[in-house]
Amino acid sequence: MIPFQEQRFEGATLPADLVWEALPDDCWRLRSPGFEMNSGLIVGTRSSLLVDTGSGPREAAAIHRAVRRITDTHLIIANTHAHGDHFLGNDYFRAQGVTDFYAGTLAIEHMEQTESQQRELVASIEPEMAAGEGECTRLHIPEHRVGSAPVRINLGDKFVTLQQLGNAHSPGDISVHTGRVLFAGDVIEQGGPPNFEDSIPLRWVAVLDELVTGEALDTVYVPGHGGTVDRDFVLHQRDQIREAITTCRKIAAVQKPGSEPTDHELRVLPFGPVESRNLYQRVHAT
Ligand SMILES: [Zn+2]
Repeated sequence: MIPFQEQRFEGATLPADLVWEALPDDCWRLRSPGFEMNSGLIVGTRSSLLVDTGSGPREAAAIHRAVRRITDTHLIIANTHAHGDHFLGNDYFRAQGVTDFYAGTLAIEHMEQTESQQRELVASIEPEMAAGEGECTRLHIPEHRVGSAPVRINLGDKFVTLQQLGNAHSPGDISVHTGRVLFAGDVIEQGGPPNFEDSIPLRWVAVLDELVTGEALDTVYVPGHGGTVDRDFVLHQRDQIREAITTCRKIAAVQKPGSEPTDHELRVLPFGPVESRNLYQRVHAT
């Protein structure tokens, strides 16, 4: 069991207490206010698994407090991917005694290679993490790697399966699956456009296809941001990205060599100016 005490941060404004949404099969969803990022919790009789730890020690402290309102079992952590809003809270949980952290092999490499970018991403809500100054602001890299083979974790009365999906939204995205519930990280986005900056768009389409074809019809999908969705939503997102890739290729075909399309030309894409341009650039870079 992990000690119940929490560290406090001098002068830090911690988010207000967070509220869990109950899901099937002893699973829970928690939205942190900063990036509206979803953490997940799968509660077992012996251990529980937390999916994603927030942007730094401020959010992680609130997430930890919320976890301990649900369960006092031994805690295991999985990071869905290598973007700072999902894993920079790891060091706080390490300080609370958590010793088992999991992430995709490629995500771990990306965490190490892009540390400064990930810290910069969270600067507005986690200034200590951005600066690397203060308690629990070290980069805590998961020591358990999820490679090409799925990893099964025994929580006592249930198993959780971690699976590396490849580079869809970002290098080394993993899914976390138990019973009817699948935590998908940012491979599924609800309430906002998908983020294409580190993506391989074609692979993303294939991954979304895999996430529905092998799953039960009543699977509950938990996106990295936004509310839970069903299979039809995932299929719609797959089709939307696939059609957008085709549109990007048509736009590229009428560009002069070396020139970029205007925002006006990209307006036919359904993702807004920033993500439409990100998608266009990733379609041609990958
Ligand atoms: Zn992300």
